[in-house]
Amino acid sequence: MISDIRKLAIGFLLATSAFSSEIEDRVHTTINAITGSDIHLSHEKRDFDVLTIKNSYRQTFVKEKFFLIQGGLHGDEKLTSDFVLWLAKRMKENKSLLNQLPNNVVVDFLPYANPDNYQKHRYNANNVNLNRNFAVFWGISTEPNGHKPFSEPETKAIQSLMQSRQYISAIDVHGYVPWIVAPSPPKHFSSAPPLQKLKYNLWYEALKKGMSMLKGYELQNARDLGDGGSFEDWAFWTNNTLSLCLEMSHSQRLVHYPNQPVIDTYHSYEKYIYHMFKSALSIKKQIENKSIIANNP
Ligand SMILES: [Zn+2]
Repeated sequence: MISDIRKLAIGFLLATSAFSSEIEDRVHTTINAITGSDIHLSHEKRDFDVLTIKNSYRQTFVKEKFFLIQGGLHGDEKLTSDFVLWLAKRMKENKSLLNQLPNNVVVDFLPYANPDNYQKHRYNANNVNLNRNFAVFWGISTEPNGHKPFSEPETKAIQSLMQSRQYISAIDVHGYVPWIVAPSPPKHFSSAPPLQKLKYNLWYEALKKGMSMLKGYELQNARDLGDGGSFEDWAFWTNNTLSLCLEMSHSQRLVHYPNQPVIDTYHSYEKYIYHMFKSALSIKKQIENKSIIANNP
């Protein structure tokens, strides 16, 4: 039986829109549709829904700039899926800070990265922790990582999506601890090209600055946490995508700290993501300029 909760949530999002049906079809897509393949289904043969939201549907850009926001890789972290859908809806209705990014920006929202176990379990239907199944530092985690990197259809689907889109930045949303998890530092990647290391340093500086936007948060990295095979390490070190893992601090949206007004965490995270995507665009430009200078001394 195909789970319908996910479809209902996406249906609701589409139903409340002012767009024409032709645009609706471009908004609600799947990893298969994007990659031009028909092989990407979960263990239990579910689709990977993607909501592709553009800042302008009127203009066709020679060079679109792609970004990814992914939730639900751990199926039991329900709020991460809810948040990714909420943000997609905001951007679609032109109410989000993300709408202030340049017009050629396209954001792919993947709310259910582990569709079989949405609301059910941390692991996938094959009992693998998908966020330990990517190819950098694979095998060092004490959690089930699969018999090899990308052994699971879910991580293979994400791999294929990343290769198709060449994202400038990708955010994997998890819960629930007050952490941002950066890609692991260059000291572990001595053979990486100098420009990639420079790119890392610029991104790390931006991540450090961004910490002031999230109350009580700490900046971590997957290697120090012992979390081998994580999405953000592979996204940066293999794909050159400016990545991070955003841990939502609490399992509920509204948070009340003593003697302070209630905080709507969704809005804080939206602000943070907007800020980090803007930083990513600026870093991409800086690296491109450096590479032009390096190639034309
Ligand atoms: Zn998680």
